[in-house]
Amino acid sequence: MQYTLPLAPFDRIASLHQRLLAVFGPPTDFVRLDPISQMILAMLSGRTHNETALGVFAALVEHFEVARHRGSWQRLAEASSHELDPLLEGVTHPERKAEALPRVLQEIASLRGALDLGFLHGWPVENALAWLERLYGVGPKTSAATLNMSTLHRRVLVVDTAHWRAARCLGLVPEQTSPERSVRLLNRQLPNGWEASDTEEHHILMQDLGRTFCARSSKASCPFTNVCAGSATPQRTRLLEEWLRDAPPAHALPGAGVKMSQISPLKKDAANLNQGASGAPPPVQTASASAASC
Ligand code: SF4
Repeated sequence: MQYTLPLAPFDRIASLHQRLLAVFGPPTDFVRLDPISQMILAMLSGRTHNETALGVFAALVEHFEVARHRGSWQRLAEASSHELDPLLEGVTHPERKAEALPRVLQEIASLRGALDLGFLHGWPVENALAWLERLYGVGPKTSAATLNMSTLHRRVLVVDTAHWRAARCLGLVPEQTSPERSVRLLNRQLPNGWEASDTEEHHILMQDLGRTFCARSSKASCPFTNVCAGSATPQRTRLLEEWLRDAPPAHALPGAGVKMSQISPLKKDAANLNQGASGAPPPVQTASASAASC
């Protein structure tokens, strides 16, 4: 008698992840901020280059003496837009952010009695996302970044503009999908065995793809050109899944070895921010912080 073994289900996100790793290499380590600091950084980085957001974040840390006050952002919660405006120079929509930053901190303090998001550590991820997204100025990208990239380190995928752009191009989400809806759709596709560090690494790799190739004139050298659904790539010939199943060894792909720099001005300050964060695990001592721009 002959038995047919069931085929293992093909996981295109896991396979794509391996291709991305071969192209960009493992992401550079970064300092893991406490959840409030990470939320502020994610809000600053909305539609803003990482380097600019990190620079403004560092300026806020210094101006409000956050490190000296053991990581407390209380002074930012009390700041007027008049005080904040000059500090937000360079970020996109500074007037909106000058209103949103103190307001979201006031809401947290009012709802929880303290400026602390450590209580989310034990919550189911969906509930924690929903709680955060009820706060003023917090959308799906900021909520996911707060949970995944901070010391909370929860299993959820962050999707910023660069990541969204690449996901649409590759056909992981329909072309017309909004950034907000993409967060939900991409999170549903995560491999079952993935943990927080996997989702974090995948976000950084997809962000690298979107920035290095999709948003630049280097599209011609993109290793995904022949499967890309983007309108700028009429040479698309194959579906992503089919290509991932039988593509040549990843290390042979053009562009392999490209690595994005994540150097930030936060090296020293960020390491000091976590001192006062209660209810959260200890910080990871690594090289720089991650902005997850959107
Ligand atoms: S082929 Fe072009 S649009 Fe598609 S992933 Fe590569 S750079 Fe981005």
